[in-house]
Amino acid sequence: MQSLHANVNQSAVVLTEKEWNACIYVRLSREDGDKEESDSITNQKALIHDYAAILPDVTIITEMVDDGYSGANFERPSFIKMMDEIKSGRINCVIVKDLSRFGRNFVETGKYLEQIFPFFGVRFISVNDRLDTAKSSNDRVIVPFKNLINDAYCRDISIKIRSQLETKRKKGDFIGSFAVYGYMKDTQNHNRLVIDDYAADIIRNIFKWKIEGQSQQGIANNLNEMGILSPLEYKKFIGLNYSSAFKLNSKAKWSAVAVGRILKDETYIGVLVQGKRSTPNHKVKKEVVKPKEDWIRVYDTHEPIISKEDFSLANNLLLKDLRISPGKKTVYVFSGIAHCSDCGMNMVRKTVPDGGVKYFYYICKNSKTKNCTTHRISEKLLEELVLSALQAHINNIHNLEQILALTDTLPVKQVEIQRIDKQLLKVNEEINRYRELKISLHESMISGIIDEEDYKELKESYSKKSDEAEKSALRLNDEIEKILNSKGDKNFWIENFKAHSNITALTRKAVVSFIDEIVIYEGNRIAINFKYHSNYDNAIKFVQSVSELIPTVPITSIAQKKTDNLIEKGAV
Ligand SMILES: [Zn+2]
Repeated sequence: MQSLHANVNQSAVVLTEKEWNACIYVRLSREDGDKEESDSITNQKALIHDYAAILPDVTIITEMVDDGYSGANFERPSFIKMMDEIKSGRINCVIVKDLSRFGRNFVETGKYLEQIFPFFGVRFISVNDRLDTAKSSNDRVIVPFKNLINDAYCRDISIKIRSQLETKRKKGDFIGSFAVYGYMKDTQNHNRLVIDDYAADIIRNIFKWKIEGQSQQGIANNLNEMGILSPLEYKKFIGLNYSSAFKLNSKAKWSAVAVGRILKDETYIGVLVQGKRSTPNHKVKKEVVKPKEDWIRVYDTHEPIISKEDFSLANNLLLKDLRISPGKKTVYVFSGIAHCSDCGMNMVRKTVPDGGVKYFYYICKNSKTKNCTTHRISEKLLEELVLSALQAHINNIHNLEQILALTDTLPVKQVEIQRIDKQLLKVNEEINRYRELKISLHESMISGIIDEEDYKELKESYSKKSDEAEKSALRLNDEIEKILNSKGDKNFWIENFKAHSNITALTRKAVVSFIDEIVIYEGNRIAINFKYHSNYDNAIKFVQSVSELIPTVPITSIAQKKTDNLIEKGAV
């Protein structure tokens, strides 16, 4: 049997005058995530017939179809029938569209292609892989790899069937009937949105007011007082043929809900979000809102009205406001930002009249129900503490920036990159080694040096190690990237702080722009978590590492000046 195997194998790689009686093998399985259109039975057949037509020595004598059978195994009725025909000698050639049609199991597919078919003298043709065992042995090396990919494919069975509309949505084409307030449909291309200048100004004001501390109701009131038409009225005014399912009263006013909807709408930052709703099936007409992660988002499809920074600022505020009383018309400077150190609840603002004068305090919300102590702090003191801490922090960032600018002129980047580059070289060698090991492993299994069990075990351990190596390669590349970009865009946060260098009073905007949280302790002590604190810490670390590499850098001053977040009353 060994010698027969070898003989057939050799004859298969030589061009022959032989007549080939071919069987077309086609397979389709939705379970495998096969592409419905390109992998349809008809398509596969047509493609193979076209290809076989130019092969003078091949005659197609039969077709075998496994419709609805997974490629994960070979327990398929038509496949078994085909093997019987091969054994009987009626067929000596098998043609498939691609290897995944034949089988998606790496080991099993390899066995057929490398052992069983050569043994029976079967010529195997995979059209899309340009693989023909009668023509050349050069391509054979790639077969194990193709198989491996097909194997991986098989595990990923959750590819969804896409409708044409979904494809359009994914392309970023606007398919709604009406443009969202602030935009209009481009007269040249109805699938595109362009800015409506008048409404865009209103949108900008809404975001500005929100960031300045107004509530949604307060903003709605402003707009109504200014006589600004609500989005619905505006639509009617500019003559759009619009009929809403809601009964409209003639003076549809701005509402807190309408303002909230605008503040949350990603359309304003250039993102087209569609496919939010769907009907469960053709019998149920009622639309349901799909989970947010299933919405189709396409970025930068149209010109934004609001910057991404302002949008996320406003939306962080919406989240914070949710935790305060929703009915309030204005939001206080520290609303939703000041929390109790012991129970984590919001600090609430209280007014205490004393002899004709009003005093304002913040106390823990839980203290009313005696579940916590008051943690009482006067608003005036809190403002003073926060303002001076913020000023100090901005000052520190100023110093930090000057040192960062200094490091830019030093050869520190090159030194760092060379160091990482050396590591990267080693890791890449490792990746190559495992790649070679995996190939030789497969060969060892085919030639019987190791059995299938050993093969699987070793393959898994090699794959794991090469995955790890590839991960560290990615990480090292990232590090290099980081060093190269350590100036410029990456320090946008510094510019943010610098823009407020001369801050002399505390505003809601300043607080929400620079502070994530203020923790209030008993005894008039507070701790401040500034925004971008990880950027700040990284910059400090970077400066410190530079000073180790190049000792002449004067970093001691900055390292000592690092803001002490915990501020005591006496310290001010
Ligand atoms: Zn508390």
